[in-house]
Amino acid sequence: MSRSFDVVVIGAGPAGYIAAIRAAQYGKKVACIDEWKNRDGGNAFGGTCLNAGCIPSKALLESSELFYRTKHEFKKHGIKTGKIELDLATMQKRRASIVRQFTGGIAGLLKANKIEGLVGHGRLLAKNNIEFTSISGDVEIIEAMNVILAPGSTPIEIPIANFDHKNIVDSWDALEFDHVPERLGVVGAGVIGLEIGSIWSRLGSEVTILEAMDDFLFMADQDITRIAANDFKKQGLDIRLGANVTEAEVSKNGVEVSYGDKDGIQSIEVDKLVVAVGRRPYTDNLFSNDVGIQLDERGFIIVDDECRTCIKNVYAIGDCVRGPMLAHKGSEEGVMAADLIAGQAAEVNYDIIPSVIYTSPEIAWVGKTEAEVKALGQPYKVGSFPFAASGRAKAMEQTSGMTKIISSKYDDEILGVHIVGPMAGELIAEAVLAMEFSASTEDIQRTIHAHPSLAEAIHEASLSVDNRALNFPNK
Ligand code: FAD
Ligand code: NAD
Repeated sequence: MSRSFDVVVIGAGPAGYIAAIRAAQYGKKVACIDEWKNRDGGNAFGGTCLNAGCIPSKALLESSELFYRTKHEFKKHGIKTGKIELDLATMQKRRASIVRQFTGGIAGLLKANKIEGLVGHGRLLAKNNIEFTSISGDVEIIEAMNVILAPGSTPIEIPIANFDHKNIVDSWDALEFDHVPERLGVVGAGVIGLEIGSIWSRLGSEVTILEAMDDFLFMADQDITRIAANDFKKQGLDIRLGANVTEAEVSKNGVEVSYGDKDGIQSIEVDKLVVAVGRRPYTDNLFSNDVGIQLDERGFIIVDDECRTCIKNVYAIGDCVRGPMLAHKGSEEGVMAADLIAGQAAEVNYDIIPSVIYTSPEIAWVGKTEAEVKALGQPYKVGSFPFAASGRAKAMEQTSGMTKIISSKYDDEILGVHIVGPMAGELIAEAVLAMEFSASTEDIQRTIHAHPSLAEAIHEASLSVDNRALNFPNK
């Protein structure tokens, strides 16, 4: 007799494992299938985020920033050091150990919630049956009352620069380099390009980032990106905009990269080339053709606002569906899908999803940019505050950047908050919470912020919206 479950989740990334845990919390009998294989050959839960994305990249961003600051800032604080040397092997060991702890933690969480964690491939068949192929090749048909598809995404490969995973690499390869490339090329100045470029630049690589678009970080507020671009330049990141890569050829000296820009055809030679031009939904062999799951023209599984596919009791969540490819967005969709399966009301507020880029300075935002508000034709007001006027930022020797708040002129509701500066990724949480409660600028103005704290920069920006900033001259 085949095994049956109330809920079967395919994929144990931040979307899938969270959905499984939430469903189990309702007393549902849950299985979660995942086939992730690490480069040492071992299987692990946690998906891209824990194994090859959010967690390992942040571990290296932290280590490389410490290395950089020790070299460049300690003197200012009056700290004398000997020769600062890099021990990349230890740095990489630390990264791998953090990943192991966290992926092991997911296995523990599944167990603690009595979820059957199945290692292998899951494929949706008709009538909500799942074909499960274990890593040893055994095939089992599992019956599921409800199915949640959470297969995630994979890097986009461009034909002019196919991955050989040695010279032309993806972001996962680039997080596992065992030496610092002297010259690193990156295709794409998106989130991955900037984070990976920052890591290796701080550790000593000469980094060139080629970006096809003329605008830098077009999705972020332009006041913020202007400051970030300036800082990245000072750090030595060579970001070339309007650069269309036409060829990448592996040679004995590395990779010859040709690109076209407004001045014609250019070329650079690098030791390694990271291609980071976006990710595509990963739905390979995820369902049989007779199931009827529909994909859009870019390969995303089509779902409604509640992540329901067109098949009854089959949901899809995370990177494989529309919306930003972010771990926290996928997790919230996982919570929503499980709540709906349990008969509860649930929704995801897609208008209020924070974005963070973990460079130095960090960049974070939520809600609309000024350009987006302007395009809507809605009367608005803007306030801002520079970290240069923040006592805490000064003490931290991290004064570059600003906070910016955009509010409605009609009713004072906050429409967008944008930060570039120290701990922007932490500071944005206040703005997310405020916007979730439809807060007005005045609500933040009348909220007491500790002194001296970086959060005061949000408070002062809110005051500045109405020309009432207290620690900086108003417009
Ligand atoms: P995934 O995490 O990709 O997990 C999907 C899982 O499903 C995988 O384990 C896969 O093996 C498994 N799977 C797929 N198909 C099958 C199948 N048929 N059978 C069994 N198993 C299957 N986001 C952030 O929010 N913050 C960050 O700081 C951040 N940093 C990132 C850094 C990098 C370098 C990268 C690449 C991404 C980063 N992201 C970040 C994005 C984030 O990793 C993704 O948005 C997130 O992992 C998506 O979660 P998911 O559960 O949808 O998919
Ligand atoms: P992205 O969409 O952020 O950036 C890709 C960049 O590549 C874009 O700027 C695009 O214009 C450029 N590009 C595309 N084709 C090109 C070409 N042929 N030549 C030159 N440039 C080209 O994608 P990504 O950086 O690969 O990241 C993938 C996803 O992972 C993103 O959706 C992101 O949300 C997620 N991620 C998030 C974080 C975070 O939250 N901190 C970190 C890393 C990744």
